[in-house]
Amino acid sequence: MNLILFGPPGAGKGTQAKILQDEHALVQLSTGDMLRAAVAAGTELGKKCKAIMDSGDLVPDEVVVGIIAERLEKPDCAQGAVFDGFPRTVGQAQALDTMLASKGKKIDGVVELKVNDEILVGRIVQRNQETGGTRADDNPETLRKRLVVYHQNTAPLLDFYAKAGKLKSVDGMAPIPQVSQEIQTVLKGWTEAGGGRFVR
Ligand code: AMP
Repeated sequence: MNLILFGPPGAGKGTQAKILQDEHALVQLSTGDMLRAAVAAGTELGKKCKAIMDSGDLVPDEVVVGIIAERLEKPDCAQGAVFDGFPRTVGQAQALDTMLASKGKKIDGVVELKVNDEILVGRIVQRNQETGGTRADDNPETLRKRLVVYHQNTAPLLDFYAKAGKLKSVDGMAPIPQVSQEIQTVLKGWTEAGGGRFVR
């Protein structure tokens, strides 16, 4: 089963994707993590993307689509994946549909973590303090830029998936265990509706 966790930066997608990975046979596919690994490894791709990421902009669609295409070929993705931070543009979403369709697969559902932008900025400041500021894009200025980019480029995808009948929203401002519980309820609903076996 293939699932997308959707929401602005700092909404808790990564945290919830890891929980889903641990509880279900779903691999977390975070393009942000993959790009940061490329930057840390000093690869050509990493060098190309670092400045864009630090500024809070999106890296080009073909870069992330290429990364995901390569990753989906790995055997651990056979049981399905939780996409975290991808797709972020309509072009990426269309490319993802095409990639999955070529494997006889599809996006089975999209869960939006609904959050308040101002509270998000506060959370990022806290994350920055807790991690000692290891992420160059985890500061209030860049986050505001990333939120603008989210609303301009990524939020329109909500409509794309709503029209496809695949979108469910949960309260991303709730405590982490409660958000997890709400996501479980959504997955259970999809399972019962025959949309796929999300719950073991
Ligand atoms: P994230 O950790 O998902 O917030 O991603 C960190 C940064 O990596 C983003 O601000 C973008 O610069 C870049 N990035 C990650 N995923 C994507 C994507 N799907 N499309 C374009 N840029 C991305």
